[in-house]
Amino acid sequence: MNAPVSKTLLPRTLALSMAVAVALGGTFVAPRSADAAKGGNAAGLKLDESKLPPFNQFRIGDVDASKNVCSDFSGHVNGKWLASNAIPGDRVSWGAFEMLAERSVAVQRQIAEQAAANAKATGVQKIVGDFWATGMDEAKINAQGIAPLKSRLAEIDALTDGASVAEYLRKSFGRGEGAVFGFGPSADFKDSSMNIAYVAQGGLGLPDVEYYRKDEHKEKLAAYEKHVAKVLELSGIAADDAAKQAKDVIAFETRLAKASKSSEELSRDVSLFYNPVTPADADKMTPNFSWTRFFESQGIAAPKMFSFAIPEFHKEVDKMIADVPAAQWKSYLRFHTVDGASPFLSEPFVQENFNFYRKTLRGQKEMKPRWKRVLDTIEGQAGEALGQMYVQVAFPPESKAQMQTLVNNLSGSLKVRLENLAWMSPGTKKKALEKWSTFTPKIGYPDKWRDWSGLKTTRSSYVENILAANEFNYRWNLAKIGKPVDKTEWGMSPQTVNAYYNPQQNEIVFPAAILQPPFFDPKADDARNYGGIGAVIGHEMIHGYDDQGSRFGPTGNFENWWTEDDAKGFKALTDKLVAQFNGYEAVPGKFVNGNLTLGENIADLGGLAVAYDAMKRATAGKADPMIDGLNRDQRFFMNWGTVWRRNFTPQELEVRLVTDPHAPANFRAIGAPSNHPAFAAAFQCKAGDAMVRDGEKRISIW
Ligand SMILES: [Zn+2]
Repeated sequence: MNAPVSKTLLPRTLALSMAVAVALGGTFVAPRSADAAKGGNAAGLKLDESKLPPFNQFRIGDVDASKNVCSDFSGHVNGKWLASNAIPGDRVSWGAFEMLAERSVAVQRQIAEQAAANAKATGVQKIVGDFWATGMDEAKINAQGIAPLKSRLAEIDALTDGASVAEYLRKSFGRGEGAVFGFGPSADFKDSSMNIAYVAQGGLGLPDVEYYRKDEHKEKLAAYEKHVAKVLELSGIAADDAAKQAKDVIAFETRLAKASKSSEELSRDVSLFYNPVTPADADKMTPNFSWTRFFESQGIAAPKMFSFAIPEFHKEVDKMIADVPAAQWKSYLRFHTVDGASPFLSEPFVQENFNFYRKTLRGQKEMKPRWKRVLDTIEGQAGEALGQMYVQVAFPPESKAQMQTLVNNLSGSLKVRLENLAWMSPGTKKKALEKWSTFTPKIGYPDKWRDWSGLKTTRSSYVENILAANEFNYRWNLAKIGKPVDKTEWGMSPQTVNAYYNPQQNEIVFPAAILQPPFFDPKADDARNYGGIGAVIGHEMIHGYDDQGSRFGPTGNFENWWTEDDAKGFKALTDKLVAQFNGYEAVPGKFVNGNLTLGENIADLGGLAVAYDAMKRATAGKADPMIDGLNRDQRFFMNWGTVWRRNFTPQELEVRLVTDPHAPANFRAIGAPSNHPAFAAAFQCKAGDAMVRDGEKRISIW
């Protein structure tokens, strides 16, 4: 989340369009020495391994021999597992990632309980302990009802016109809350060493603009309208009036959606995030909302320039400040204030929030138990504070050293592949290699931990702790604007089961929690590690060369290092990959969007190839004993398949087909291997088999 454009192995919980906004409250790190991970605040914590859920690893008994490996690889390696591992009631997907996430939260729970029980806790232990204790006190939370929002709702009730709306927005941002649009710091596209301010589109309750535009989503839009009415009613509005106001809110958001870009548009043109303007120029475009005043009201001087993305969106908001009646603004702001806080309020609010966002929209059957929801909150508000303790008990130092070796081997193989690319001219290749030489890997946890002094948490109120963290995180982020980028900062907490590439720093980042089976196991054979975390490392590296990552140069600046011919050659190859994924039918009648998922598919395709090469180099001359009747190459691809075993609720899959730049897991399992000649060779597949794309159909890019 450092960058509005960083690529992850799995989607983050936040929509891409909001990524800039919550570079607020989403990024981490600060001054502390590297060895602070050991000792200090986290000292004395203990982990009871017997209480942790199991890992999800490839087992030979999982293989379904009735499914031909060459025609149905996904069914062969995962079919049995998928059929016998139903999605737990409190989740919407279930597979290798989720099982590790369950393990991660089980570790976090032990840490949080110990932190809360320590009456003398200071620093990060006190912060985590206070969040935990107040978050788990359901009786107190229920007794408070909506009271914690009273003063905010009174402010909204007092709005009379556009000018007062603008004033309210400034005030709300100043508290680290905000509304309608996103705002936060990120590196300058043209000078990646400096942070500038970005404003972004936002303000929608549904996952993508398409929900407001396309007929196929009209049932979800209707359900959302009911949800808006219910929330307004819970907030104290009479039922009839709440239903009327809900219509206004939908009309309001539909107008925002019309002026916004879709997930697909944003994922395929990263330049949409960058539109440098002076505050004075922006003020001319939005006469009813002064950006100069906005910056000043946040307590920082108006910068010389900031990124005003997406201008059509902000112009529309500006018009709405002038022409939308104050009553309609009030309905919209009241709804989002209550809706956003609902997960932290009393039971009726929590229940309604679950009913719509999790049950209706995503197909989740049961609410997560409170302890998991509290950990989600800590993750969002003070994730790295918890991470500092997490790595202390759950990340063996030898994992970091072994990962470093793997990264070096992958990097060496990528270099050879770049040098040997047949379709790229020597001039562009030289640039590609220059970029290769500047990759920075980050493994496990930050070298410097963020300084949390200044965040005041207490045992008196959960919501108050959350609001305090909002403001603290907002101020911390604001302070970065106009300052050099802190390259030691991480955009994900160590306890996150994910990885990312940040093109503006040309860095690949692997949190501690993903460095476990089935991805990585210090005790496993090479095949498993290269087919697991090796392919993940390759994936993140190739993001530097995907259709958007390749628009950034070696120092992370947005610059074109391609000749026209090479760019054309690259486009011809990526068009073939778009077509391959467009051909995958995810649910009857609904296909994968090859365009939306292009960057991730390029990364999978190249990442798997680089990992395979690296494994061959690392094992050259070594014996290849069979394990479970499988040779090394076979185990490599089997583990890749295992990583992508994942069940989804039908509703979750539907949302992802519209919003997720990653293809559904079963297609990630087969997409890249079907293009790799080593897969066909490993399993003696023949021309014409579904898992063998040969001749013109075979795609190799990096
Ligand atoms: Zn990715």
